[in-house]
Amino acid sequence: MAAELQHGGDGGAAGAGDGSAGAGGGPGGGDRGVDYDVVVVGAGPAGLSATLNLVRQRWRTLVVDSNRPRNAATLHSHGFLTRDGVSPLELRRLGREEIEGYAEGEVQIGAVEAVTVFGAVTDLRALQGRDPDGTDADASEIPAGSDAGSRAERDADSNAGPDADFSARFGVVVRGLRGSPDRTVRARVVVAASGLSETFPAIPSLRAHYGTNLHSCIECDGYEKSHEPLALIGESRDLAERAVLLSRFSDDLVVFTNGADVLSEAEQTMLAGRGIRVERRAIDDLVGEKAALTGVRLADGDIVPVTAGFVRPAWSPALGYLDGLPVDRDAHGFLVTDAAGRTSLAGLYGAGETSAPGAQQLIVAAGLGARVATTVTRELLGLAPSGAGLDEPVP
Ligand SMILES: Cc1cc2nc3c(=O)[nH]c(=O)nc-3n(C[C@H](O)[C@H](O)[C@H](O)COP(=O)(O)OP(=O)(O)OC[C@H]3O[C@@H](n4cnc5c(N)ncnc54)[C@H](O)[C@@H]3O)c2cc1C
Repeated sequence: MAAELQHGGDGGAAGAGDGSAGAGGGPGGGDRGVDYDVVVVGAGPAGLSATLNLVRQRWRTLVVDSNRPRNAATLHSHGFLTRDGVSPLELRRLGREEIEGYAEGEVQIGAVEAVTVFGAVTDLRALQGRDPDGTDADASEIPAGSDAGSRAERDADSNAGPDADFSARFGVVVRGLRGSPDRTVRARVVVAASGLSETFPAIPSLRAHYGTNLHSCIECDGYEKSHEPLALIGESRDLAERAVLLSRFSDDLVVFTNGADVLSEAEQTMLAGRGIRVERRAIDDLVGEKAALTGVRLADGDIVPVTAGFVRPAWSPALGYLDGLPVDRDAHGFLVTDAAGRTSLAGLYGAGETSAPGAQQLIVAAGLGARVATTVTRELLGLAPSGAGLDEPVP
């Protein structure tokens, strides 16, 4: 913990007995085995921003991160206000440091392997201080290996706010990484901020060029590729749209479909009208060293010269730890959330790229994390989220 950043005037103990709700179910002696108010899964910009804003509302929050940032392939992140060009790892380090400056915040390097629910918690109003079926959550349902007791003991003599429910609703199973312990913790709220996974077209040396010569986010990295001969490689139906976006940066652009039938003749004509060529032949591989791309070699041996490019991966959620939970997902497996980040399961929220449309930008993910923190606070206090009634259906 960075001492110079230490916040909180309660000597570092979460759940200070000052009468405020928050910090580990502490106030009121109503604690029924809660370790954390909130567990956030993933410490990318979404999870870090959610956690920072949660600890600043004095919620005892654990953020667990498996430390596999999607953007680790790149050396510079662009477009994040005041941090344009920052290394992705540095941005995360700064975020973790800010959180660790608060007594209520804790960061663990680990992988969340499962989230279990105590009882049939499906009604959002359950968080107003009562279980939907009128019964308490049963602490005996916690999976083996829980270290829940210590937290309860630490907060046993705190004072309760009037309208908060301090029962644990979720068990979160964490596999420790880098020497941190395996453990199972109990939480009132879980925020899924675990980002997404990328699957690339099957091109042998694509990964070697990803993050340096080849990128996926046009808004993030297009500027740096201005005026270069560019490739756009993809096998999805949004290829024409992405080509038009990319044409902001170069008038020497070739779209490679890698043999996939994803561009209509009308789209090809439209692209040709903008000076964008289309290459429908299958790709054999990229040509050039990692530091210097020189072309795209097609299956028949022809080489199209380019010095940089963009690839359109297929995106899928990284939400295996929620398998088996009764929560709505879309056709691609992403969480269905409302505008405030609520899922269909009370107490479970989605932040960042765990919800459609998936891949976006750092600052968007951070904003979504902050918004979820506001929603969580309001619901833990029994209030409707601003701009959305509790009775509105999740779309
Ligand atoms: C190569 C590349 C370059 C990019 N460049 C830019 C750029 O310049 N500017 C920009 O704005 N955006 C950029 N982006 C996009 C940006 O990285 C994403 O928009 C952003 O990271 C999404 O944030 P997130 O918090 O939702 O998810 P992520 O940043 O992906 O974070 C999710 C975290 O959750 C963790 N996790 C996953 N599963 C678990 C689990 N079960 N338990 C614990 N932890 C778990 C992962 O290890 C990861 O650390 C780039 C993306 C890529 C791929």
